[in-house]
Amino acid sequence: MAFDFNAADFYDTQSYAKETARIFDICNGCRLCFNLCPSFDVLFKRIDELDGDMDKLTDKDTKKVVDLCYDCKLCFPKCPYTPPHQYMLDFPRHMLRGKAIEAKKHGVTLQDKMLSNTDLLGTVSTKAAPIVNWSMEIKPFRILMEKTIGIHRERNLPKYSSQTFHAWYEKHKRSDARISPPDVERTGHSTDEKPKVVFFHTCSVNYNDVDTGKAAIQVLEKNGVHVEVPPQKCCGMPYLDGGDVDNAKKHAAYNLSQLAEYVKKGYDVVSPGPSCSYLMKQEYPMLSKDPDAKLVASHTFDLMEYLAKLNKERKLSTDFKESQGNITYHLPCHLKAQNIGFKSRDVLQLIPETNVEVVAKCSGHDGTWSLKKENFKMSLEVGKPLFDKFTDGAAAASDCPLAQLQIEKGSGTKPRHPIQILRDAYGLEQDPKE
Ligand code: SF4
Ligand code: SF4
Repeated sequence: MAFDFNAADFYDTQSYAKETARIFDICNGCRLCFNLCPSFDVLFKRIDELDGDMDKLTDKDTKKVVDLCYDCKLCFPKCPYTPPHQYMLDFPRHMLRGKAIEAKKHGVTLQDKMLSNTDLLGTVSTKAAPIVNWSMEIKPFRILMEKTIGIHRERNLPKYSSQTFHAWYEKHKRSDARISPPDVERTGHSTDEKPKVVFFHTCSVNYNDVDTGKAAIQVLEKNGVHVEVPPQKCCGMPYLDGGDVDNAKKHAAYNLSQLAEYVKKGYDVVSPGPSCSYLMKQEYPMLSKDPDAKLVASHTFDLMEYLAKLNKERKLSTDFKESQGNITYHLPCHLKAQNIGFKSRDVLQLIPETNVEVVAKCSGHDGTWSLKKENFKMSLEVGKPLFDKFTDGAAAASDCPLAQLQIEKGSGTKPRHPIQILRDAYGLEQDPKE
């Protein structure tokens, strides 16, 4: 059967067990994903221990497989049995259903409640950013955090900004700092036929990595793109990580109510966060039956995908001032799962004397999964083949803010978002406050 968040039997344990048996049986016959992640590793080893007798798999075995899935989505594009194949196999979403049933039965854990509410955490933490950032470096405090909410003491966490991106943008749009639209000759479009985007900034940009948001606005404005930034909430991905489908649906509904009005007026939705753009493209139409979900999804672009589109339409300025040398670029899993190719690489390679090496390996951070003390060490093992690529002194880039943290933890090199590199190449100045 096709996966459906809104099916009447979504939370029914018997229906879930039947579907689990069906999926595990197909996967056992296929085993293409044997080395993809700990979930498949544990599943296939357990089946082998049971001499292939699938009937002996217990609920405990299934829970282990579910808990080890960090929703990277890598198995989905790889699988030959996904819809429209008659098997209608959707391994990652079935794992998500397992988490949702667990959360419905026992309640969302305190840990997941804390980690999911990125807007509340961000709002409080930005108000006291220096103290919060300082306390994250204090060992006894980290031990306390580990014991109370289960965040591993050695997990490097993002720093909070004292000013949110949204607050900065409100000032920016009224200031002279806005880059005036370039002339027709440079970008190929006149000011009255400007491309229009609504910028979905993401929690990470709003509360932590404000500079990525500023760079995005600088580059979009340089290219004559009209930008709007309406009120918005977390995309909902962290709620899905913890199995809280109801809250993910609420967040999707709020964002759709804000974004759909713009799309109906001819705007595209652009986001710098791979997981957020993935969610809006692929999961919003599944979480929400509102026709606006499909409308918004079909007009949503990853930021670099959008710039590549402008380039294809001969509307992207190639007025570069500085070459960027060698760049090692990490392709995040949630961009891979969007099936859009290598758009960040394609755009960065427009910069003269710039070479981009793509590394398409999972970082192992994956949302809230690697924050948890039971997963942290395993997450570093998953990311090891990726970390090894970031040791040759080349500039490092990744679109994913969590992969950036994980690569920094594993290799000592902190990648930047490709949009920050592009801003430098254009010779646009970084805000000195960043
Ligand atoms: S989504 Fe990723 S972690 Fe989950 S089962 Fe697929 S490959 Fe493994
Ligand atoms: S998810 Fe698909 S490709 Fe992967 S093991 Fe299962 S059936 Fe094979």
